[in-house]
Parts: sequence; C-alpha cells; structure tokens
Amino acid sequence: MSQNALFSQLPATDKLLRREAFAALLTEYGHTRLVETLRLMQDEARAEIRARQRLPAWCCDWAQAVRTRLARADAGALRPVFNLTGTVLHTNLGRAVQAEAAIAAVTQAMRAPVTLEYDLDGAGRGHRDRAMADLLCELTGAEDACIVNNNAAAVLLMLAACADGGEVVVSRGELVEIGGAFRIPDVMRQAGCQLREVGTTNRTHLNDYRTALNERTALLMKVHTSNYYIEGFTKAVDEAELAALGDASGVPVVTDLGSGSLVDLTQYGLPAEPMPQRLIAAGVSLVSFSGDKLLGGPQAGIIVGKKAMIARLQSHPLKRALRADKMTLAALEATLRLYKHPEKLRESLPTLRFLTRPAQEIAALGQRLLAPLAPRFPAFTLRVEPCLSQIGSGSLPVDRLPGAALTFTPLEARSGGALEALSRELRELPRPVIGRISDGRLWLDLRCLEDETGLLEMLLK
Ligand SMILES: *Cc1c(COP(=O)(O)O)cnc(C)c1O
Repeated sequence: MSQNALFSQLPATDKLLRREAFAALLTEYGHTRLVETLRLMQDEARAEIRARQRLPAWCCDWAQAVRTRLARADAGALRPVFNLTGTVLHTNLGRAVQAEAAIAAVTQAMRAPVTLEYDLDGAGRGHRDRAMADLLCELTGAEDACIVNNNAAAVLLMLAACADGGEVVVSRGELVEIGGAFRIPDVMRQAGCQLREVGTTNRTHLNDYRTALNERTALLMKVHTSNYYIEGFTKAVDEAELAALGDASGVPVVTDLGSGSLVDLTQYGLPAEPMPQRLIAAGVSLVSFSGDKLLGGPQAGIIVGKKAMIARLQSHPLKRALRADKMTLAALEATLRLYKHPEKLRESLPTLRFLTRPAQEIAALGQRLLAPLAPRFPAFTLRVEPCLSQIGSGSLPVDRLPGAALTFTPLEARSGGALEALSRELRELPRPVIGRISDGRLWLDLRCLEDETGLLEMLLK
C-alpha cells in the first residue's frame, strides 16, 4: 500500500471522538486530554508509516490503545509493590512501612486544618515541633528536640548552627559515606565548618581528641559507622568518654547516630543498635537519627539534646528550609506514641514486626504458598529454603536475620535468561513483586509478606 493510502487510513480526531467506544473515555479523562493524546498517537503513526510503510499494530483499536496508554501514564510514580527482597528497610522501596496509627494521623492532618503552630490555650504561635519535642524528651530523657526533613538535614543543621565556622573534631575512622552523596567531609564543608581529622582509620584514642582542642574548636563529633565494620586492631572512643572530655573543656559533643533505636533490640534477639537515650544519659549534647530507619516512622531527622543548643537549631535560618511538614509530623507523633506502650510495639510497628518475625512462621507461610503456586510456574522447581534477611538502611551488613524464602530454580540448567524473564514478569504484575536472583535461582524472601491472599490472588489470576 502506498504511503498516501496508509496516511488516509488514519482517522481524524473528531471522528474518533464521536465513536461510541470513546464515550466512556471522554467521561473519564476529558476532552482536552483525549485530544492531546490522540494528536501524539497520530504523530507516532505517521512516523511509523514514513519509516516502515505500515500502520502501527495498535491502530486496529484506537480506543483500546488510548485506554492502555492513559492508564499506564496514570499508574503514578509511587506504585505499591511486594517487597520480597529480604531487606526490611529498603531505601529504594521507601524504607519503613508505616504503622496504622501513623496512617490514620496523616489522613486526619490532610483533611482538616490542624494546630500545627497554633497554641489553643494562649492562642499564641507555638513552634511546630513542640508536641513532638515533649514526647521525645519523655522517651529519651533529653531536654528538648528539633525535627527536620531527614537525618542528613539534621547533621547539616547541627553543624551549621553549632559549629559556626569553627573546627569540628572527628575520628578518621568515622569519615563515612552513607550513600547518595552524603559524605561527612562534604557535609562539613557545606555547613561552613572546618573538619579536624584525628586518629587513624582503625584506631583513635581520647588523647587524639584532647590534643586537637584549641580556641577554634567548636564541636567534638561522633558518627555512627552504621554501614561498615572493621575488625582486628581497632579502638574507638565511646560517647561517654568524649562527653567527659567535652565537659572538662567546654566543647559540646554531637553524635550522628544514623539509625538509632528507641528500644533495646537485643531483647528480641536482634543485633544491638545504639539507643539515643543512652547517649543522652552519657552526656552527649545533641544526638541525631532518622525517622524512617529502625524507628519505623516517616522520613524525618530527629535531633534530641540540650535545651540551649536545640534553641540555636530552632532559630537558625536553615531550620526554616529543612523543617518537616504537617503530614510528617502527624505520622511521627503517632509512631512515637506507640513507644509508650512497648509491650505492644512488636504488633503495632510494622518494622519491628518484620524484624522479629520467627523463621518458622516465615517458613510455614512459604509452605502455604508452595502448593498453589507450583503449577503456575511449570518451568521452575519451587522450594521453601532458609535464607538470611537484612535490616537495611545502613544497618550493619554483617548482621543477618534467619528467615525463609520461596525459591524458583529453572528446570533446565544453564537457563540464566529464564530467571531474568521470571524476575521481569513478576515486576510487571499489577502490584510488582520484587525479589532477588542469586545462586542460580530467584528468591522471594517472605519476611515482609503480610498480604498472603493478595499475592496469591494476583499470581493465580
Ligand atoms: C542513614 C544515615 C544518615 C542519613 O540519614 P537520612 O535520614 O537518610 O537522611 C546519616 N548518617 C548516618 C550515620 C546514617 O546511618
């Protein structure tokens, strides 16, 4: 068929819109958007005719093609997935899953005006972190608190507001990179302070800090080396020792704790994680940690510590730029309240629920999935196998949690392509299933799977 004949087969926009199949589309998406989409599709079809002398396959059903295209465009960037990666706090999947109480609090804060900076008693203007600060003081024993966008912002604000261009003393073993361009030396530069490195990569002594002190010293800083671990001939100075030195020399000690946990995780058989309340008790002036790591709340940076120093943070211009919004504060407050009922925390806080899920329970879940799913994947052998999950988000990579996974091994050996194809198929489901490939099979770590029925229904549809 000639190009001209092909071009003449392209229906005009107004004709298409009058077709019966377009009535529902018009109601759903509106005239403006349909016209815009059809114009783009016609341009695409013309380009195809010019390049390959044929109509694109979708031209046989314009209404269906439009529907598919618009549905895909509207799927949104934040699609719910099944996190079966084995990493509980997965940064790329949005870290902590929120508690029901937090979800309800956010919804309420979105629907109606709230007392964000409004003091009902005095009708004066309170500051937005007030309610949270009281709760954090109760939970950590600190004098006051400040909330910002995330822990990176918290570190930046602490340094900018409290070092004021002076020297900040840090151990060489703690000049870490957290990922995503967050490197302690770079943050120092951005905050306008001078980095004063002391000690060596593996060993730093109290005396290293002491000899670094001079009239320009503004802060002594500790950074929790959350994501790496050195073993062997090592020495670090703990916060209590450093706080004593700080006290004696009149220099505040600040700590970037990274994750931090408000409850002692060892009571659940989990790896020990430093607790902000212990550092406050040890005399540290400011401690910062993330809201969406082990705390299990929304993305936020939490700083707890001495009243006078928190006041400096609150009045610094950067605070205004880094402050948390009402939805974050609502979720954070609701999450923190759960910590006032620690006996129930394992139930109410999804992060802790996932982390403490017993291996036998996860394996039993795997067994329940095995029988119905096996016939659905005839090209693979399905098994329930023990595996090790990770906490994630900068927790020690050497700390692993024993659990179980559903594994898919290709029946035909050496079919590496089959695993990739299966992994893609699972990612393309309405609610994508994210697993991982290793040792010649696909692993679906079931630790974070709670909607068992939802997964089964989707896979068997
Ligand atoms: C995770 C982490 C940060 C960054 O925290 P975000 O909340 O992701 O901004 C900073 N320092 C340490 C030690 C961390 O572990």
